[in-house]
Amino acid sequence: MYLASLKNDFPILTRSIHQDKKIIYLDSAATSQKPSLVIEAMNNYYRYTNANVHRGIHTLAEEATAAYENARKKIARFVGVNNPKEIIFTRNTSESLNLIAKSWGRKNLKKDDLVLISEMEHHSNIVPWYMLRDEIGIEIKFIPITSDGQIDVNSLKSLLALHPKLVSFTHVSNVLGTINPAKTIVQLAHNAGAIAVIDGAQSVPHIPVNIIDMNADFYAFSAHKMCGPTGIGVLYGRKELLETMPPFLGGGDMIKKVTFEGYKANSVPYKFEAGTPAIAEAIGFGAAVDYLSSVGMQQIHDQVAKTTAYAFKRLSEIKSLKIIGPGAEFRSGVLAFTMEGIHPHDIAQLLDSDGIAVRAGHHCAMPLHEKLGLPATTRASLYLYNNESDIDALIHGLGKVKKVFN
Ligand code: PMP
Repeated sequence: MYLASLKNDFPILTRSIHQDKKIIYLDSAATSQKPSLVIEAMNNYYRYTNANVHRGIHTLAEEATAAYENARKKIARFVGVNNPKEIIFTRNTSESLNLIAKSWGRKNLKKDDLVLISEMEHHSNIVPWYMLRDEIGIEIKFIPITSDGQIDVNSLKSLLALHPKLVSFTHVSNVLGTINPAKTIVQLAHNAGAIAVIDGAQSVPHIPVNIIDMNADFYAFSAHKMCGPTGIGVLYGRKELLETMPPFLGGGDMIKKVTFEGYKANSVPYKFEAGTPAIAEAIGFGAAVDYLSSVGMQQIHDQVAKTTAYAFKRLSEIKSLKIIGPGAEFRSGVLAFTMEGIHPHDIAQLLDSDGIAVRAGHHCAMPLHEKLGLPATTRASLYLYNNESDIDALIHGLGKVKKVFN
């Protein structure tokens, strides 16, 4: 099925910049655009329902609470989770991963305990572990990647023999586009006695994800990369683990009781949601998963895969351009590349003058770029609203870039 008409669902894509240049948005790995339906859901909440959740007995408070909790249920279903209490609302993937390190990690890890992360991780799945290392002295080892940008499963097996306590990896790389074999890695980690944490920031927007089927212990993702608003994300956690974990932040809503002596924490998931949550954003997130479900995650994946394969082929035809990472068949809609003798920032700036939005830099994956021997790359990242004509515009723009620099 060709999803051409989907562009019409995203009002921003009708905008022109630099006088008459229609926006060609190829930066969805940073954040996706939002369909009208999501914008309206949030707007309607503020117009008609606005009230704080969980506290009031008036009508608006009850409606707001129902809408907030309903969003949690929809999101749970969307990722194959039966028990919505296992879905904790956070601010984003980064906060979700920090929550694991600071709550589960501080409680369960001690000096010299080993944590494995892969070489292709985003800083969000590196820095919280470095912080924990600085605090309690855990050891961190990196799972190597192969020359074509995939997790080296043989090296992983050798590292697992060292009995790590936790293995954390990205399901889909935001630079290489690699789709990692999450279920297999979780199984290997469990066999070695480790818990498995997955960074799903780039996978939940792109592929049908069933967290229970892949048996992950923790799984993190952000609304803003999947047609939802900024300011809200999810941490899925296995209930048995969440129940034994201490709260991450203290304050309103996360307690059952507070006395002059101390406090008793609330039950899961509220124990981890201190203070007034992002209510409108949760409702917008719920609308986003409704939208993605109505299109169909398999269709979205197929459409993005088809456009990515086309982009891969067209980019490969440009002499002096090198695509980073695996072949088109192993990747989601991310294409990071270099062009000989031209700085990625210059490429991005010249493309912008044609209305084409791409990203240049290290994409919050500095260690990966160090491994690749590259200070920076240019990244085009696709989503359901992109089609082959967007890629044609990119190729045309890159042709102009080459002319300017040669
Ligand atoms: N992990 C990956 C793989 C990402 O691509 C991103 C976002 N670039 C993050 C984590 C962090 O997401 P957020 O900024 O929403 O916390």
